[in-house]
Amino acid sequence: MFNALTAMPADPILGLLTQYRLDPNPNKVDLGVGVYKDEAGHTPILHCVKHAERHRFETEDTKVYIGPTGSAHFNDLMTKLAFGHDHPALLENRIRTISTPGGTGALRVAADFIKRCRTQATIWVSDPTWANHNGLFEAAGIQVKTYPYYDHDNKSLRFDDMKAALAQVSPTDVVLLHACCHNPSGMDLTPSQWDEVITITKNVGFTPLIDMAYQGFGEGVDEDAYGVRQMAANVDNMILCSSCSKNFGLYRERIGACSLVTKDPTTADVAFSVLLYVVRCLYSMPPAHGAAIVETILDSEKLTQEWLEELAQMRDRINGNRSMLVDKLKEKGVKRDFSFIAKQKGMFSFLGITPEQVTRLQQEYSIYMVDSSRISIAGIGDGNVDYLASAIAKILE
Ligand code: PMP
Repeated sequence: MFNALTAMPADPILGLLTQYRLDPNPNKVDLGVGVYKDEAGHTPILHCVKHAERHRFETEDTKVYIGPTGSAHFNDLMTKLAFGHDHPALLENRIRTISTPGGTGALRVAADFIKRCRTQATIWVSDPTWANHNGLFEAAGIQVKTYPYYDHDNKSLRFDDMKAALAQVSPTDVVLLHACCHNPSGMDLTPSQWDEVITITKNVGFTPLIDMAYQGFGEGVDEDAYGVRQMAANVDNMILCSSCSKNFGLYRERIGACSLVTKDPTTADVAFSVLLYVVRCLYSMPPAHGAAIVETILDSEKLTQEWLEELAQMRDRINGNRSMLVDKLKEKGVKRDFSFIAKQKGMFSFLGITPEQVTRLQQEYSIYMVDSSRISIAGIGDGNVDYLASAIAKILE
């Protein structure tokens, strides 16, 4: 039976990581993998997480099944973190949230849920989008189409084209929007652009699915949730997939959440029962550890404060790296305008160089990034920015 298989292409980012690890060059730079790193290139465990884990170690008294929804308390805290404590949809009991294995798990549950809502479903994703979006939705039997988003030539949002495309979407389709820190472009909607997209969503009647994998990495926990909160206040149906991988640094614990916003509590209950059925068929129930950590942090004023400070440090470092690279490139005499990097948000931007130039950076300077020239901003630091900017200057000559 297995003989009938043909090999799948290797994940380009993981392949890059293997090459990077094997590279003996002491000056090598990894701008591939999308995880937060400190100046030493390490992805640390947050102090607030360590505190919460100690607490959990001492107080956890069972490993019994947690159930398909995960921890109800975590779900409540995550709902409030995403939507705000006094969101009308929350006060009107129109939101249902479950814990999921990471943001990926939330998206996969959402995909199967959408398929159950409508067998002929189509989802529209931004061009470009996180590479895994396509596979995740196709795996659930959903057709994936794209709407215009990033203008590689002008390093800007194709906002008029995006609006025109969304206005043509069928009311029975789903449109995926990135809440903040757009992966891979770093190009986010401004609040007023969100308002316009929300008006189109309302007028056309399609269902928005918002992917929020980086809440707090752009401008702040509340600022980054602007689109989520406004959308939920204005439409009858919405899906939110969130992740605690980046903002709590809980990557390998696999914890996230999937929320449904509906028009009334009765619809919410029915939709929730379908969501739970989907979960039972996919993985039965989510892991509990990461959720317990987040719960302990958000339950404690002191730990929440510590988390917000640690989150701000990560955000500030990323934003600092952005300006540092732009300044360094100028200092190295690079004529091309890279100022867009300092204006974009989150973990990624496209450098905007050709695949040949990407290969040269790797072969001649041991600087690793994916072919599209998407760079992971957290991989930049005081220790390598000079080397990096000099290398970019050389390959642009
Ligand atoms: N959505 C986007 C846009 C992402 O960038 C990521 C992580 N790279 C995810 C979802 C999934 O996150 P998780 O690791 O929590 O599954």
